[in-house]
Amino acid sequence: MLARLFRLHGLLVASHPWEVIVGTLALTVCLMSMNQRAVSSQMCNWNECPKVEEEKVYSSNVVILTVTRCMAIVYVYFQFKSLRQLGSKYILGIAGLFTVFSSFVFSSVVVHFFGKELTGLNEALPFFLLLIDLSKACALAKFALSSNSQEEVRENISQGMAILGPSFTLDALVECLVIGIGTMSGVPQLEIMCCFSCMSVLANYFVFMTFFPACVSLVLELSRESREGRPIWQLSHFARVLAEEEDNKPNPVTQRVKIIMSLAMALVHAHTRLTAEGLGQNRTADGRMEDRRDSAGTMWPLKLSSVHLEQAITLGLALLLAIKYVFFEQAEAASPLSLKSPITSSAPPPHKSWQVENSRGKLPKMMNGVCENGTHSSAFSRLPLNDDKDKEKSAASVEGGSCRLWSEESLAQTPVTLQDDATSEPRPLTECMSVLMDPVRGARFLSDAEIMSLVAASKIPNYKLESILETPERGVAIRRQMLSSKLSVPTALTCLPYRDYDYSKVMGTCCENVIGFMPVPVGVAGPLPLDGKQFYVPMATTEGCLVASTNRGCRALTLSGGCNSRILADGMTRGPVIRLPTACRAAEVKAWLESSDGFGMIKEVFDGTSRYARLQKLHASVAGRNLYIRFQSQTADAMGMNMLSKGTEQALKMLQQHYPDVEIMAVSGNFCTDKKPAALNWVLGRGKSAVCEAVVPAKVVKEVLKSSTAALVELNINKNLVGSAMAGSIGGFNAHASNIVAAIYIACGQDPAQTVGSSSCITLMECSGPQGDDLYISCTMPSLELGTVGGGTILAPQQACLQMLGVMGPAEPGENARQLARVVCATVLAGELSLMAALAAGHLVKSHMVHNRSETSLSMRH
Ligand code: NAP
Repeated sequence: MLARLFRLHGLLVASHPWEVIVGTLALTVCLMSMNQRAVSSQMCNWNECPKVEEEKVYSSNVVILTVTRCMAIVYVYFQFKSLRQLGSKYILGIAGLFTVFSSFVFSSVVVHFFGKELTGLNEALPFFLLLIDLSKACALAKFALSSNSQEEVRENISQGMAILGPSFTLDALVECLVIGIGTMSGVPQLEIMCCFSCMSVLANYFVFMTFFPACVSLVLELSRESREGRPIWQLSHFARVLAEEEDNKPNPVTQRVKIIMSLAMALVHAHTRLTAEGLGQNRTADGRMEDRRDSAGTMWPLKLSSVHLEQAITLGLALLLAIKYVFFEQAEAASPLSLKSPITSSAPPPHKSWQVENSRGKLPKMMNGVCENGTHSSAFSRLPLNDDKDKEKSAASVEGGSCRLWSEESLAQTPVTLQDDATSEPRPLTECMSVLMDPVRGARFLSDAEIMSLVAASKIPNYKLESILETPERGVAIRRQMLSSKLSVPTALTCLPYRDYDYSKVMGTCCENVIGFMPVPVGVAGPLPLDGKQFYVPMATTEGCLVASTNRGCRALTLSGGCNSRILADGMTRGPVIRLPTACRAAEVKAWLESSDGFGMIKEVFDGTSRYARLQKLHASVAGRNLYIRFQSQTADAMGMNMLSKGTEQALKMLQQHYPDVEIMAVSGNFCTDKKPAALNWVLGRGKSAVCEAVVPAKVVKEVLKSSTAALVELNINKNLVGSAMAGSIGGFNAHASNIVAAIYIACGQDPAQTVGSSSCITLMECSGPQGDDLYISCTMPSLELGTVGGGTILAPQQACLQMLGVMGPAEPGENARQLARVVCATVLAGELSLMAALAAGHLVKSHMVHNRSETSLSMRH
């Protein structure tokens, strides 16, 4: 409930940054313009404090002030120093902004509520700086910085606010109440110090809740264009930031203690204030203030001399720390959280081949991007291989040209640790653990061998390597090294690339235990003339002929005036299995689900789980006392399996509340049916159902496809219809739809396993036209399971292919995914045309012999 309130507040502030900033500034200016001298009669300036012996008190004031100022400077220095470890100039800038604006609000309050003398501010600011806590502000900034789009910025800020807001509020409350006790102490100097401190906490809180998130949101919006949609906080994928904050969540027991404590404090405050009300009035009326002012006025000469010494001390300290911070801490600034380590430059070179390194992964120690042991004359000579055998193997693979191992550029970019020295012995496990846990040093200060020993000792889980090490790439490299030593061919991974890949997108979303990535050639077929537009279709495949053949189909379609398509249905499915005590009871539940009441209640719960998933149908089937329910829902631009699973799970919980004897056996009972051939999908459809048609004039059939309409129609009947019927096929009434579907799916980041259902297609051909020699062709595909958001579509290369088709990401909900389905269906039609023509003309075997057999594989066989 509380978190929800804070989330809403965060969303509001991040969505209306201008309003909030202007409002906050206006409020602060209002505070400044209010002349609250009456209030100052209750408070007093530091120098106006009651005194017993003026000189004694004054000199003690100066000492306290000097010590406070020095502490404040040192504290701020350490806060910024630890922020610098995060390695982002944005974080530093944001923290600076937060400090400056909070100080501004605080100063306004001090100056205008405590009297107009700036001397009061001079004394109050150190207390403020001592109490400012930048860690929460930076945590909130990290949430925002890990966003890909402005929409995500808002969402992430609201999520950050939901997580940080309650604990920050409680902390501020407890701090105020605890410090507030001091304001009732009766010791005048302590009272003033506590007053300043309370106001510091409040100013800090006020800025954190309003101005700060609005500013972060606005700054990110304004700077977004220059970053082309990439998150600033590159390494901290949002899930990681979230996990980090979840890990650091305050202990609920401590939180409870704080709440109880603050209630008790509030009672103490109420009691003391009420009973001391009269006393306070006396205090303001007893004229001591005037005395103090007078005395302050007469102390000027003495004050001046002390001020010089005091200012010299604080100024000297500030300068010293500033010089140390600016000039001597460059080399220390990298952190386990930052990609932008000064030792391993993160910017990829302009032309990179996918490089791989020797399987042992030992690399020379480098400082500031320069190899310690010499010039860049030979990449190979710089690799400290562990034994001659390694050298031979690596040299062989380089000289043999089987694959390129590394280049000058990639070596210069290789992440190396500060301990990565081939000759140094791994330190003991306990020492390694303490380095790892040290927030300043971290994994960066451990060698690969030490990390591997920690993994072997189960101190680091192998699957967490990417997230624990300073860069995911180093985690992948170390996993490869560990794996290579266990393989019968230790150099097996040499040609599997892993460098220069954005693993932050993969982690927690696309793949686990990553050891590299598989480059698959991507060809282009097109232009494909579809619905009056032209598309260039990316196809990732290793089957020679496929792209060329599809391209020929596209050419035939272009010369025929194009093809047209329609979406017939749009609904992803999930089919759980539940069990009832008896078959009769299962039938009752089925009837309830089919009633408008039952459906309405289920739909309400289901639809509540997503902004886009909308339940369309429930198809229930009974088998004995088992009940199978096929949930069908629109999923807009997402393929939708996760969305459906989430909605189904909640709907089943509701069903169970309604029918307590329902036993949920599995959220998927194969009645979906996902990734397995099923007549249900073929008949009822799943995902997007599409149809595409074209008329190919006889001339084009003859000149481009080198065939005739009659031959194609006859072949289609006997192969795609009768042949498939003879084989007992379900949805396989086509020549090779799966070829095209798989190639586009791999290129465009779809789930490749869903080519099983998505390739269902019936290809029909007829003679048409006035002479009956033109070819009418159609492809009907009832279960295209695809999307343009979620899954592999978040990866940059896959997004590039979606962008080629103009369907990347979300658009008018569902439009992009439906457009992609039409393109797939039309490309299948082009592929069918071309392959059927090749078969009819007897060209298939011949062209495959030419385009699909590499010289290498032939020579290997002979
Ligand atoms: P998802 O990424 O899990 O969900 C889509 C997300 O995008 C949702 O959070 C949705 O918001 C959001 N979204 C933003 N704009 C959208 C738009 N215009 N249209 C639709 N959603 C939009 O993706 P998914 O398609 O549901 O699941 C795909 C993944 O499921 C793939 O990785 C696939 O491999 C995997 N998969 C899972 C199963 C399974 O059994 N769970 C089976 C097969 C495959 P809301 O939060 O508001 O919905």
